[in-house]
Amino acid sequence: MKYHVDEKGYYGEFGGAFIPEMLYPNVEELRQKYIEIMYEESFQKEFHQLLKDYVGRPSPLYYAKRLSDKHGAKIYLKREDLNHTGAHKVNNTIGQILMAKRLGKTRIIAETGAGQHGVATATVCALTGIECVVYMGEVDIARQAPNVARMKMLGAEVRPALSGSRTLKDATNEAIRDWINNPVDTHYIIGSAIGPHPYPDMVTRFQSIISEEIKWQLKEKEGRENPDYVIACIGGGSNAAGTYYHFLDNTEVGIIAVEAAGKGVNSGESAATSALGKVGIIHGCKTMLMQTNDGQITEPYSISAGLDYPGVGPMHSHLYKSGRAEFYSATDDEAMESGLELSKLEGIIPAIESSHALAIFKHKKFDPDDILVISLSGRGDKDLQTYIDYFKLA
Ligand SMILES: *Cc1c(COP(=O)(O)O)cnc(C)c1O
Repeated sequence: MKYHVDEKGYYGEFGGAFIPEMLYPNVEELRQKYIEIMYEESFQKEFHQLLKDYVGRPSPLYYAKRLSDKHGAKIYLKREDLNHTGAHKVNNTIGQILMAKRLGKTRIIAETGAGQHGVATATVCALTGIECVVYMGEVDIARQAPNVARMKMLGAEVRPALSGSRTLKDATNEAIRDWINNPVDTHYIIGSAIGPHPYPDMVTRFQSIISEEIKWQLKEKEGRENPDYVIACIGGGSNAAGTYYHFLDNTEVGIIAVEAAGKGVNSGESAATSALGKVGIIHGCKTMLMQTNDGQITEPYSISAGLDYPGVGPMHSHLYKSGRAEFYSATDDEAMESGLELSKLEGIIPAIESSHALAIFKHKKFDPDDILVISLSGRGDKDLQTYIDYFKLA
């Protein structure tokens, strides 16, 4: 079985590029050039220099002793929460801004839901002095005021999406419309391992720095490169794709994905795509997505804004369908409890997205000598108000 993308942009039956004809020149230019550009020596040098000096990589691989004692396995946390801007998303935006520069683009657009990807994009645009427009649903702008302020401080223009439910999918539609109208000078920075080929593969390759580091870090600590399991939460799937990447072909390494069950998989308020989804087309690729019987996309729900996405990237649909990965889903309550547990046991307050990965211990038992690496995709600062309200901390 093949788990990496093929020449046509597919992972098994999933992927491809289902785009309006007017976007074809943009996407085709990227498809033809992305691999060559990405592996040029000068690109690699600049990318790795910025990851080191600006993002603060390598992110530590931390042995969580008290958490390990509690759950009866050797648990390592990959500390993406310590990156500049507080999560893994910046690995991708740094890569894509360098790509955009080499393609001669002078303007960046992005879409954002909770604002995390918008902030990561505005950050790299400030870093390089490139114009930045971020589309965001009007409802999300009201809900995510601190991130809107951050983007503005960083010099980005935040444009409200006023149609539909005025959330992420509407912002995405606006961004695509902008791209169609500005095909020559503009690069669209997609924020997860989703979208038309080559986006899922390009984003995955930029995020694969996570598993590249895990291999040498684990070798240093345990004398072996391969853990027994790698575990990550899945929204669109970029932190997971980066965490799995260098282990995909080694079937001795178990791959575990945790989705957001929201208020329960069958509650009608959920984002557990693998359990609830069917094959369809979203944002230009064929993948599993939550939809009604007549193919309308269902509004997803999760307490964590970053997992509140109605689909998963095509790689993950293939990992699910082929049985290469085990998929679980954690409810809001399970994630919140797991986030509080990590805070108390290790002194690390995780993003609520990452807390879903930590909730694996409510669903699966491990052997005491199993070595686990969990992607701690982000820090909890942005979620403090949600933790306060949930646990009545104030
Ligand atoms: C955005 C986000 C996610 C979800 O996105 P993926 O593309 O699935 O990784 C997970 N964790 C954090 C901290 C995020 O900000």
